[in-house]
Amino acid sequence: MDYKIVENSPFARIARMVLKSRNVAMVLGKTIHLSGVKREAFLKDSGWVAHELCHIRQFQEHGYLRFLWLYLRESMRVGYYNNKYEVEARIAGLKGEKNIPVAKKADSSINPTELPLPIDVKKEV
Ligand SMILES: [Zn+2]
Repeated sequence: MDYKIVENSPFARIARMVLKSRNVAMVLGKTIHLSGVKREAFLKDSGWVAHELCHIRQFQEHGYLRFLWLYLRESMRVGYYNNKYEVEARIAGLKGEKNIPVAKKADSSINPTELPLPIDVKKEV
């Protein structure tokens, strides 16, 4: 898939400060904005990469602004965790995880945040 990674992204840094989280991966269009996590560490985490690539596909599928709107509306309706775009990305993430024991999978899960954008935080294991 055609995508770009921006390390130390100012957008992701703002989100990270607002959320008071250690790391943030935020997808806007075809770009994954990272803060608090290095590109190499992110790329090594196949589950996390698969999760964010799923958001990129969602942007492509629905169109940039339309997807932002759909994501926001979905979050308002069912909440962030049950947002169907997050559910889809979570499943993609689990499938993308390689060589991770099942017991560890739950701990290494990627979680959406309360901000109305596809912004995810990885829980520290
Ligand atoms: Zn997500």
